[in-house]
Amino acid sequence: MVVLKAQNLFKDYSTKENTTRVLKGINLEVNDGEFISIMGQSGSGKSTLLYVLSGLDKPTSGKVIFNGEDLATLNDEKLSKIRRTKFGFIFQFYNLVPLLNVEENIMLPLELEGLNKKNYKDKVENILKVVGLFDKRKKYPYQLSGGEQQRVAIARALIIDPQIIFADEPTGNLDSKTGEEILKLLLNLSKEHKKTILMVTHDNYAASFSDRIIKIKDGLIE
Ligand code: ADP
Repeated sequence: MVVLKAQNLFKDYSTKENTTRVLKGINLEVNDGEFISIMGQSGSGKSTLLYVLSGLDKPTSGKVIFNGEDLATLNDEKLSKIRRTKFGFIFQFYNLVPLLNVEENIMLPLELEGLNKKNYKDKVENILKVVGLFDKRKKYPYQLSGGEQQRVAIARALIIDPQIIFADEPTGNLDSKTGEEILKLLLNLSKEHKKTILMVTHDNYAASFSDRIIKIKDGLIE
């Protein structure tokens, strides 16, 4: 089943002086449960594509269709609801809240959704075990290694049970051994937990964990 579809996506960035066309007609179908890597040289538009596909940014033209629904037809409220509940995000620099401990960081999306944290006790515990941080659940981000912080970010992305995980260079800030652990965790989420994953990376080894590699060159899929 196709969960996410890009149809003839164009993205321009304009300043007073000029317009840069970053995406030049991207067509893509993402199947449920697929783990896809988006590769390409620096500046080729990988992150732009990820942001447009995940509704964080709007295409200049073309469509992004999620579960059969054109994102452009949704109002801001509906779009942000989809982003908060159907999509999970992982970034290179973790973006954890320093004043919250591991467990609290993971539960933050529940708070944003107005959900009762008490009902998620088992789920939080389960996710902490999946990412291997149960023993560190009371620690604060500054007490954790980079790899552990990324695990917290992954756990936070999982708490609302998203359909798609968008990851922008999730191992970009980690040494190769730690990066490999994170990639194995993503692979596990894909295979055991049936998550659809779209990961931007410039690293061939990272991409080797995915089912399919999409290469972007000059704004198009090669
Ligand atoms: P990649 O992720 O492949 O390194 P990006 O998608 O970040 O590439 O950027 C692609 C191109 O678009 C680059 O030339 C970048 O400078 C430009 N770009 C990205 N975001 C913006 C923006 N918000 N405003 C203007 N130009 C941008």
